[in-house]
Amino acid sequence: MRFSISDYSISAKAKGWGNGWPEDRSRDMVRIKADTTGTKVNVHKRIAALADILLDETEKRGYRLNPKTCGGYVNRPIKNTKKPSNHSWGLALDLNWDKNPESRDGKNHTNLPAWVAQLWGRYGFAWGGNYHGHHKDPMHFEFMGSPDDADDMLSKARRDLGHQKIDIPEKYTVKAGDTLALIAKRLNIPGGWQALYQLNKGVIGPDPDVIRRDMVLRLP
Ligand SMILES: [Zn+2]
Repeated sequence: MRFSISDYSISAKAKGWGNGWPEDRSRDMVRIKADTTGTKVNVHKRIAALADILLDETEKRGYRLNPKTCGGYVNRPIKNTKKPSNHSWGLALDLNWDKNPESRDGKNHTNLPAWVAQLWGRYGFAWGGNYHGHHKDPMHFEFMGSPDDADDMLSKARRDLGHQKIDIPEKYTVKAGDTLALIAKRLNIPGGWQALYQLNKGVIGPDPDVIRRDMVLRLP
């Protein structure tokens, strides 16, 4: 990281992320999804792959996200200030805000296991539960590096955590004994054999029960 994870004095703009609030940055956002619960969050495209891995890893290790109480990009200033929030660059995520509320009593009210902040911290995300002083914001994770740092952290996360997104094959060659239903089940095709048939009607013909060996099917 070219920037310290605990230095809040340098704005995201100064780190090379362009303008935050009040500028509308929604075009730079990508929607990512936590695999286990399907929780969706909009974040800046340059941190999207990294944040996606971390959401997945967080759930894989046993902390479940609530799709209704998580968020990312919001075009707004930091509360009670005229300074843009890291949410306005899509660099911050709030996880389970119902269980991890902001507080002013200097204590963290949170159900996050300690490893969550450690995990995200290793890849450049500061945790709002580590704010100095009375204000704690344990739902809040924000990326503290530059765009180049985001790329570096993504490579590191891929190396460490080993889940390169698995490439889903685009084609399948029919083997002896296959049926559309079997293939759909084995490959976990969304929409099942019907979706597979729709896409390959031209190759299969009018009867979905008849597929020939070595037929090449497109996968949805
Ligand atoms: Zn936040």
